[in-house]
Amino acid sequence: MSDQNDQYHFATRAIRAGQDFDPTTGAVVPPVYLTSTFVQDGIGGFRGGYEYARGGNPTRDSLQELLASLEKGASAYSFASGLAAEDALLRAILKPGDHIVMGNDVYGGTHRLVSRVFVPWGVSISTVEMSDLDAVRHAIRPDATKILWVETPSNPLMKITDIAALAELGHEFGITVVVDNTFASPYLQRPLELGADVVVHSTTKYLGGHSDVLGGAVILNDEELASKVGFLQFGVGAVSGPMDAWLTVRGIKTLAVRMDRHSSNAQSIAASLVGHPKLEQVYYPGLPHHPGHDLAAKQMKSFGGMISVAVAGGAAQAKKFAESTTLFQLAESLGGVESLIGYPSEMTHASVKGTALEVPDNVVRLSVGIEDVDDLTADLLGALERL
Ligand SMILES: *Cc1c(COP(=O)(O)O)cnc(C)c1O
Repeated sequence: MSDQNDQYHFATRAIRAGQDFDPTTGAVVPPVYLTSTFVQDGIGGFRGGYEYARGGNPTRDSLQELLASLEKGASAYSFASGLAAEDALLRAILKPGDHIVMGNDVYGGTHRLVSRVFVPWGVSISTVEMSDLDAVRHAIRPDATKILWVETPSNPLMKITDIAALAELGHEFGITVVVDNTFASPYLQRPLELGADVVVHSTTKYLGGHSDVLGGAVILNDEELASKVGFLQFGVGAVSGPMDAWLTVRGIKTLAVRMDRHSSNAQSIAASLVGHPKLEQVYYPGLPHHPGHDLAAKQMKSFGGMISVAVAGGAAQAKKFAESTTLFQLAESLGGVESLIGYPSEMTHASVKGTALEVPDNVVRLSVGIEDVDDLTADLLGALERL
């Protein structure tokens, strides 16, 4: 299947790419290769190139082939977590003295990784409003900037950046343009096709899709950068284990149908929340009044499952709302089949309190799951009613 991948559409590739049946037994689902090492047929006689599992394992290869196919990249590398993937990519590109321009509302952990690990190592960072390309241009230091790092839709305020225009701007200066595509998933948005250089994922979220496994990935076309990331995967060793890789592949099989439902549920819920007297604002790119709506409609297939709201009455009311739903469970993370609710300023974004990335303290974030939309809507409206 690997060679003819491109002839199939997304939903087919999600189920078949990297998932050939087991040639020995005919098992339709490839086995989980729970092994750390591989027997050699004489010294250096590796079967299928496999030697030791930090360097390669068939189950991890299956996931990597699948991810490359879905994002339309030449290669993919999977890691133990999204942050491990980001760390490998940053190390592959940056050296002391380099500069990175990052969205001013990126995932808190990404900002923490750069500011607490890479900045002490001699890298500098500027955070800007990524959807404002003039601001990005202004932040670029032609000799030092090596990375433009963007999340679109962004977390938690759902800002939309024009990926194609950002890529063009970056390439004017020879800068690597990285898109964290976790919120959209490759089903809704494919940054490499829009001109970006690298896609990173927390596969923990929509790709895995069932809140049962951590993982991350780097997907890219450039061979030289790919070989550096591949070396760091092996040489530093934050690899995804076989069981984790298998669970992620298992989750991805249903990505297309899940994303369709996440999007339609969220679209309907966002429409029900707009204008609610207990809310000051509803942030969802699928709403026509959202400033990034037209752009999102152009570069995404639909608008995804993430909604944020600004609650009237400030932090106390926002926290009360986040603590009073039933189906929307109060938890970190997103992208699973079950709906979750979170209070970013003290949860996902606690690590950026006091920085330029601080999230308004009346914002509540919803990860809309694929349960019945009427039940979900009633849960939210009931909780707002009780505020
Ligand atoms: C969760 C997340 C990460 C980090 O991934 P982990 O798997 O938790 O390490 C990075 N970016 C975004 C947008 C995320 O939501």
